[in-house]
Amino acid sequence: MLKTQNSDIFLRLENSGAKTVALQFPEGIKREAISFAEELRKKGYIVIISGEPCWGACDLDLDILKSADVLVHYGHAPVDDTKNIIYEFLRHDIDINSLEPVLGSIKGKKIGLVTTIQHVHELERIKVFFAEKGIECIVSKGGKRTPYKGQVLGCSFEAAKNTGCNEILFVGTGVFHPLGVSLATGARVIAFDPYMKEVRIADPDRLLRQRFAKIEKARSAGSFGIILSKKSGQKREELAERLASLSDKACIISIGEVTPDALLNLGFDAYVNTACPRLAYDDQARFPRPMLSPAEFEIVCKVRDWEDYKIDEIN
Ligand code: SF4
Repeated sequence: MLKTQNSDIFLRLENSGAKTVALQFPEGIKREAISFAEELRKKGYIVIISGEPCWGACDLDLDILKSADVLVHYGHAPVDDTKNIIYEFLRHDIDINSLEPVLGSIKGKKIGLVTTIQHVHELERIKVFFAEKGIECIVSKGGKRTPYKGQVLGCSFEAAKNTGCNEILFVGTGVFHPLGVSLATGARVIAFDPYMKEVRIADPDRLLRQRFAKIEKARSAGSFGIILSKKSGQKREELAERLASLSDKACIISIGEVTPDALLNLGFDAYVNTACPRLAYDDQARFPRPMLSPAEFEIVCKVRDWEDYKIDEIN
């Protein structure tokens, strides 16, 4: 079994009174569903595994709840208050002493501290580690989509903004979260990868240059498809409608999975993303046409200046 935030999943299931249990695992760990299903079947539950793609808690398979009493969503914390969902997120411990090299990168005596859900339980130990070295860590509450203090998501950096610090330490993997924290806060962001034990300073300049180039390319587009996601926690109808009203070349597209083929077949010259913000920033290279964020489309439509650029968040 995967290491999760606590071990009372069976108790929670028992308390729910469910007889038929649906399981939803994200892409990287989908195969783990087999052994979990087996354990549940031994306990007398009827089990249905969701075969739909899943990238986050914003992507709940709600259709499956027509055939099950409860959906166990693995790997993520809740982003909303959808009923009949039991969340079981993963928990990865950190070798606290491996943070030592971070000390050389910290300039001040007070830093904001943020991480992703799987390391949230380690924030207290990290705070103590730095306090012993004379550095105060500020861990703040996040927004509606990030229920744990210090937690950030690729679509919500509230916990970073709320620290009010001009220097922030992000503990976690990948380049997107630290860049997002940097763009959302304007702070100097130190990124520590607890697996590779590497320290980097996030530099959003390259990303901004790429985004500027996409905006320039999209200025000559004859048609804009405004992507409106069908996914439970990515559907931003009001935003899509407001953006569509900015240009008579824009049309809303309702879509579940945003794939290069789907966009190619739709045939718009450029797209504006109101689904998962990471689609525009992280996945742009996969798409055949420029994919703008909402703020970038506003720049194209001349209702926002480049100087007021802001990263897309769902809050
Ligand atoms: S919208 Fe994107 S970044 Fe936000 S929770 Fe969903 S997959 Fe993650």
